Amino acid sequence: MNPRNAMNFSGGPGALPESVLREVQQAIMEVPEVGLSVLGISHRSDWFAGVVEELETNIRRLLGVGNDYHVLLLQGGATQQFSMVPMSLLPPDGAPADYLHTGYWSGKVLPSARREGPIRVAWSGEPDGFRHLPSDEELALNADAPYLHYVSNETVEGLQFHRLLGHDHVLRICDMSSDFLSRPVEAQRFGLIYAHAQKNVGPAGVTVVVVRDDLLEDAPQDLPDFLDYRSQARAHSILNTPPVFAIYVVLLVTRWLMQEVGGLAAMAAINQQKAARLYEVLDESHGFYCGRAAKQDRSLMNVAFNLPDQALEQRFLAEAQAAGFSGLKGHRAVGGMRASIYNAVTLEAVEQLADFMDRFRRTQQR
Ligand SMILES: *Cc1c(COP(=O)(O)O)cnc(C)c1O
Repeated sequence: MNPRNAMNFSGGPGALPESVLREVQQAIMEVPEVGLSVLGISHRSDWFAGVVEELETNIRRLLGVGNDYHVLLLQGGATQQFSMVPMSLLPPDGAPADYLHTGYWSGKVLPSARREGPIRVAWSGEPDGFRHLPSDEELALNADAPYLHYVSNETVEGLQFHRLLGHDHVLRICDMSSDFLSRPVEAQRFGLIYAHAQKNVGPAGVTVVVVRDDLLEDAPQDLPDFLDYRSQARAHSILNTPPVFAIYVVLLVTRWLMQEVGGLAAMAAINQQKAARLYEVLDESHGFYCGRAAKQDRSLMNVAFNLPDQALEQRFLAEAQAAGFSGLKGHRAVGGMRASIYNAVTLEAVEQLADFMDRFRRTQQR
């Protein structure tokens, strides 16, 4: 493996598994069963219909949902879902939908949702700078809301819910863009889950939407076809030319998860170990590395932290870069450092980063 790829801690697009990159490399020249480059195979081919079908099946199997859920492969990124969800599911003159404002991305959702209908911010982490997530006691959710929308993992701040939110009688809708397929989730207790590929499961260009069939019955009839989940479902995501390449790579990643990793529980166990190693470095640094997130809400995907001052942060980044690590600069909205340890980042790579961080701290404190 290109050693720099192995030590890519980018927040997104994120690292992909080495074995997948090798298959992709081969497929760019020639998909073995077709004899053509994946970049030049028609989306109307039998081969591509098979890719979509297998990917739908794999995602259903990994999430443990049945055929009462559609698996849609859409364009427009997670951002398009910020609007598509309320366009379909938010009644214009009913009770407001509950939205949680827990960080950068859930904040980006709000203006798009407001444009489509009534919403209520049921909780906001803004007063404490998005350093913690609400406990059940802090949350006063509306039992009559048409749905509850939240972001399972706040990519920028490094906050992650480690439990299911809300009540079963209110529809759950979740943006899982940065922790999709990183751990088992009780998917059948969600009405709709969306996640773009480029953080954890593939390249940019495709967004996975998993939506329960019966929710679509009442969607407005006047939506543009492209923005109507029903037309996308009827067309098996081939309503127009889909991102064939991105979809194919996501298929390879799901095969890798099922065959090489051994499923989501196995993936979650590895992800736990990786995160524990980095948080241990923070916790044993006597305040040199200061974690952003409250301990109970720490993300297993994005470890966000600060050093004592900006000069040290600059030096840390430069030395990390020189040592072969990349992607460690925090999101421009919050600054600091962020190590994103998505599925494809190995425990070995995390251990190397942890050792580097220990060494860096000791040389600065001498
Ligand atoms: C990165 C990110 C987004 C933005 O997704 P786009 O595909 O760029 O629209 C949305 N939600 C979350 C949780 C993210 O991490």
